[in-house]
Amino acid sequence: MVESAAHSIHSLLADAARRAATYLDGLGEREVSATPRTIDRLANMLDTPLPDHGVGASEVLALLDDFASPATMASAGGRYFGFVTGGALPATVAAGILAKAWDQNSFGFISSPAVAQIEMTALRWVTQVLGLPPTSEGTFVAGATMANFTCLAGARNQVLRQAGWDIDAHGLFGAPEISVIVGEEVHASLGKVLSMLGLGRNRVVRVPVDAQGQMRADKLPKISGPAIVCIQAGNVNSGGFDPAPEIIAHAHDAGAWVHVDGAFGLWAMATPRLAPLARGFELADSWATDAHKWLNVPYDCGVAIVRDPAALHHAMAISGAYLPDGQDRDALQFSPDSSRRARAVDVWAALKSLGRSGLAELIEGNCRQARAMADGLAQGGVEILNDVVLNQVVAAFGDAAQTGRVIEKVQRRGVCWCGPTTWQGRKAMRISVSSWATTDEDIEKSLASILAAFAA
Ligand SMILES: *Cc1c(COP(=O)(O)O)cnc(C)c1O
Repeated sequence: MVESAAHSIHSLLADAARRAATYLDGLGEREVSATPRTIDRLANMLDTPLPDHGVGASEVLALLDDFASPATMASAGGRYFGFVTGGALPATVAAGILAKAWDQNSFGFISSPAVAQIEMTALRWVTQVLGLPPTSEGTFVAGATMANFTCLAGARNQVLRQAGWDIDAHGLFGAPEISVIVGEEVHASLGKVLSMLGLGRNRVVRVPVDAQGQMRADKLPKISGPAIVCIQAGNVNSGGFDPAPEIIAHAHDAGAWVHVDGAFGLWAMATPRLAPLARGFELADSWATDAHKWLNVPYDCGVAIVRDPAALHHAMAISGAYLPDGQDRDALQFSPDSSRRARAVDVWAALKSLGRSGLAELIEGNCRQARAMADGLAQGGVEILNDVVLNQVVAAFGDAAQTGRVIEKVQRRGVCWCGPTTWQGRKAMRISVSSWATTDEDIEKSLASILAAFAA
């Protein structure tokens, strides 16, 4: 049944907003994990055949809120430290609701002049705040995985073109080989991306790393021919940074393309206090980052930025190989997808609501909180395995089995959520402090809960 009256859309959306606000208000009181009971309850509600006849939109909403809301992970709250997970700033949630109502197809100027303009500003601001070259081009994609894909497609095509191979016309069949150089601690998603690009997961050269998982510049191989070097700003466990200036100088001397996976670490550039960690990364040729991690916009949103606009355009153009001159900018000429949602709206809303100072406070605050968490755990006899330079803490509670038991207990206690990881061969708990919603009180409560689980 379609409710078409203006009255009903008002009450429907007011109901949605009220339910969303009530959900967010309740996050502080509930368990952070979805419990087996709430998951089963949702599964039972969902276990029905496709209905012959629909129900009203308000009933659809009520079902979702009554059954699915309690079964969600409270990752929008302040005590979810799993993976690297940002919350969603209030301005971005609100802007997202409006943008959903707009329902703009954001592939180009012709389909949405409004979003096309917002996208140009959002890209310019992201580039500025990350200290990247202002003449770069970029695009908003689903996440850092797709941002890595987008950048590395540009890299692959460019290094082959420079070797005299027209990949647009001939693909990879018979092409000169490309050397792909990564660190031993490369993020798993990069292997998937290399496989999607026909470059192979396993035929990479892996450079040894130090105790923080940072590539050792003195162990770089000699580079010749078409080559791509992938470096990291922010190791997913330790938060460590590869030594960009040395690696980039070495790679550029050999004519290689340098790509940065900076999913969260690149945001260190947003504060003068932490920017020295990311020193030299701006000298690379392309950068992948996430907005749904540390910028705290809702899922999903990654950003791909490429120094040479023509290189990105060559790889992504839908209409042939040349940069349109003096025309309106169409996102689909720089992006792997065509039709897409207006991700830029969330990014613009985040940066407009925070400003430079708000963003710097968010980033620095999370780093200070991670430090407090690490110090508190260490005082409680927990072994901290990384040098806590950013927002990531890697902790061990004895051997693998003991650590596994503590992680399980912490998740079951429900005060906070931390996940398992393997750090340089050792089972560990990873604590990532990446949310605007995390207060110092959240850190204290979580610390107490982890120490209680450790003591039990
Ligand atoms: C999270 C992460 C990725 C993958 O990002 P998605 O947004 O999940 O696609 C890649 N690299 C690093 C370093 C990450 O932290």
